[in-house]
Amino acid sequence: MKKAFISLEEVKRINETYPTPFYLYDEQGIRENARALREAFSWNPGFREYFAVKATPNPSILRILHEEGCGMDCSSMTELMLSEACGIRGQDIMFSSNDTPPEEYLFAEKLGAIINLDDFSNIEELKECLGHIPETICLRFNPGGYFRIANTIMDNPQDAKYGMTEEQLFEAYRILKGYGVKNFGIHAFLASNTVTNEYYPALARQLFQLAARVRTECGVDISFVNLSGGIGIAYRPEDSPNDIRVIGEGVRRAYEEILVPAGLQNVRIFTELGRFMLAPFGALLSKVIHFKDIYKHYAGVDACAVNLMRPAMYGAYHHITVLGKENLPCEHMYDVTGSLCENNDKFAVDRMLPMLEKGDYLFIHDAGAHGFAMGYNYNGKLWCAELLLRPDRSVRLIRRAQTAADYFATLDVDEDVRDYLLKH
Ligand SMILES: *Cc1c(COP(=O)(O)O)cnc(C)c1O
Repeated sequence: MKKAFISLEEVKRINETYPTPFYLYDEQGIRENARALREAFSWNPGFREYFAVKATPNPSILRILHEEGCGMDCSSMTELMLSEACGIRGQDIMFSSNDTPPEEYLFAEKLGAIINLDDFSNIEELKECLGHIPETICLRFNPGGYFRIANTIMDNPQDAKYGMTEEQLFEAYRILKGYGVKNFGIHAFLASNTVTNEYYPALARQLFQLAARVRTECGVDISFVNLSGGIGIAYRPEDSPNDIRVIGEGVRRAYEEILVPAGLQNVRIFTELGRFMLAPFGALLSKVIHFKDIYKHYAGVDACAVNLMRPAMYGAYHHITVLGKENLPCEHMYDVTGSLCENNDKFAVDRMLPMLEKGDYLFIHDAGAHGFAMGYNYNGKLWCAELLLRPDRSVRLIRRAQTAADYFATLDVDEDVRDYLLKH
């Protein structure tokens, strides 16, 4: 059973100050999970998690993760700016971008970030843009074909826009060596939201074997292997969650079997997890405001897809707990809808829930990553607030809700129109 990290009484109290909908993040959960990840990879002295900033780009969250030893994985100008603003710079930043504008390379270099090149052509682009090649460079690999674990297709890299082919990769290491690069990394992201303890170990095996060949064929010693993101979480109550200790142990075994015999015993393991770090520790809180019975039963809430896009965009399942009704039987079927003029604006379809009433608080689970971050303003709907639940159970506002004036602020219009919009 999935359990909400907040009670009805607590949410009612929070709601006296902050209107619904809002995001709530569980600091204690975030910290404990980050520590469990570090512990699982403690066999590797150079281990580092670079949190994928795009998952939850809020400085208060980044600071918590940095305190727990994480660096930041950035892929845009503003993500780099967020990192720098939090005092996170230098090799604490991994810059894993693609289709990268030159000014972003320049800024990443200025911050001293580790630059992860997505494409072979990026080598000359980077050289031209910076006037030199940094001493540390990571390269992103795309093996093509299907990515399988024990005959199960996990994903199809051949259709992914990321990374370079094996041939390009080997050539790239040779060229970079010639340019005086001293520290080399290898990176790949081959499957998303995996709920198997086998993903990282299987990926690690593939990258470790490649690193061994890079050593013999290019005379280049890889100093870090970046396993990127992709560890999933149990969105559905029937899913069994990943066990990070088993994952860490699986990677350790691959390391002992492949890297150590290849003469590569000081390779650092890096990760760039987003979802695994934050998703279960953030929820969207929304109130039931409307019922409609036509051919189906609809429960309308005060949040909509602009606040959490995943169900509308991917048909993603997000579990819903009705606070205060945790122990009632789920005997009623609802579509839980938002207010957009878009029929896919449904947080749940044919979901069995306890009998709902107006004013019920819905705790929409696992929204802490790729939730708020994917927000948009369709239908002129505004972003909601983000709140942090501290370990002492107090609550801190870490992003206020967007106002109409914020939404209109970028318009360039006649003064009378502008005056009206910004006043209301
Ligand atoms: C999105 C992304 C991640 C994080 O992915 P999760 O599925 O959230 O773990 C890591 N690295 C890169 C380059 C990404 O684009």
